[in-house]
Amino acid sequence: MSDCLFCAIVAGEIPATVVHETDDVVAFRDISPQAPTHVVVVPRTHYADVAELSAADPALAGRLLATGAAVADAEGLSDGYRFVLNTGRDGGQTVFHVHLHVLGGRALTWPPG
Ligand code: AMP
Ligand code: ZN
Repeated sequence: MSDCLFCAIVAGEIPATVVHETDDVVAFRDISPQAPTHVVVVPRTHYADVAELSAADPALAGRLLATGAAVADAEGLSDGYRFVLNTGRDGGQTVFHVHLHVLGGRALTWPPG
């Protein structure tokens, strides 16, 4: 089994509630939702964070965003939503496989804590 949690989910070694998948990205529900809709979108290929992903494969970074928008649409978030890409320790990143959080379904506060 992979030692990366999200690689293991992509490989089907750890169960997740997948809501959308393509050849190169997978979207699944966050196990600890912070909003009524909380989906994370990950590339199948492992990159540690958004800096690594966008440097190595900017087109894939674009598809990650487009998939997030498609998920928001499919989830009915017509009043708006938030994308979050936590990066590094101060950014609150805990899983070091880049992932786009898609949050919505209630009015979200700003700024974040
Ligand atoms: P981050 O803090 O930005 O690295 O986000 C990691 C996210 O992964 C958190 O929101 C966790 O709740 C979520 N998470 C951790 N384990 C799982 C899991 N097994 N399935 C789905 N989401 C998970
Ligand atoms: Zn990984």
